[in-house]
Amino acid sequence: MSKKLLVIGEVRDNVLRNVTFEAIAAAKKIDADGEVVGVLCGDSELNDQAQEMIHYGADRVVIVKHDNLKSYTSEGYGQAVLAVVNDESPDGIIMGHTAAGKDLTPKLASKLESGLISDATDIETNGDKVVFTRPIYSGKAFEKKVVTGGLTFTTIRPNNIPALEHDETRSGDVTEKEVDVTDIRTVIKDVIRKASEGVDLSEANVIIAGGRGVKSVEGFKPLYELAEALGGAVGASRGACDAEYCDYALQIGQTGKVVTPDLYIAVGISGAIQHLAGMSNSKVIVAINKDPEANIFNVADYGIVGDLFEVVPMLTEEIKKL
Ligand code: FAD
Repeated sequence: MSKKLLVIGEVRDNVLRNVTFEAIAAAKKIDADGEVVGVLCGDSELNDQAQEMIHYGADRVVIVKHDNLKSYTSEGYGQAVLAVVNDESPDGIIMGHTAAGKDLTPKLASKLESGLISDATDIETNGDKVVFTRPIYSGKAFEKKVVTGGLTFTTIRPNNIPALEHDETRSGDVTEKEVDVTDIRTVIKDVIRKASEGVDLSEANVIIAGGRGVKSVEGFKPLYELAEALGGAVGASRGACDAEYCDYALQIGQTGKVVTPDLYIAVGISGAIQHLAGMSNSKVIVAINKDPEANIFNVADYGIVGDLFEVVPMLTEEIKKL
């Protein structure tokens, strides 16, 4: 029997995050013939975003609109999504392994006494079994999990499951569900961003990450120039954040963001195990370090031994010529 799968979309600054489209593709991997129902929460008209979800493969979309859903809160989104889950009785619920996904899915899974597979990087089917791959031990190994039955929540790691092709000829129903989200203890009035605008680090295809070797706030400038030339985002090691060269929002690693871009350029980063935990599954890793013995070279596909203050501007110049 084909499955009904809910995909919880995430909107930031009125734009759907890419991981939403990847979650739709994940739902199709679970059951190619199943029904994919998108869910969107917010305080404004989300019709364009709903259409976008349909163009990326959702069969229909349910919108929950309420003033208290302007920004993500555990309680607000929890109540909204729970109401949709109760209406739809899905077989599975999929969301990005984002800050919101990591918060919402375990909360609802425990409430509904259902299963949870978090941080899936791949999904395959084997007969009628669905097999989820997920990293363990900070990305040093992968385990495969099989769901044996019942409602299951899944979060998927951004940048691992390719989205389906955008197809504007796809159509589907968009409906609104009223949920009274007034009985909540926290409402976010305003969001003040400290980190610089630009490409979202957790979804970036290219990341230039700086470490303590960058030496100052000023030293990060050439990294931003390289990131701009490559259309990427800037990240950092905790060493660089602790030294106040950049904001903690840029930290990558065990206690920072976990990223899997197509290209990760580590600049002046030694390659401590806690840093590797956040980036070692990147598709191509380039390390720039003046110490040929630096541990980062053990995970790098390409290594450049040299002074970053010479190498990075040279790289930017060459890339700009392309
Ligand atoms: P360093 O180790 O000081 O390395 C600097 C590198 O720059 C060196 O390899 C040096 O050769 C190179 N360098 C210097 N000058 C130049 C130059 N001019 N040109 C080229 N190369 C140069 N760290 C994280 O990153 N993320 C985490 O999430 C994280 N979580 C942690 C959690 C715990 C519980 C603990 C205990 C630690 C955690 N850490 C984390 C810290 C981690 O252990 C390291 O201390 C940190 O990653 C080091 O940062 P770094 O590589 O930038 O600095």
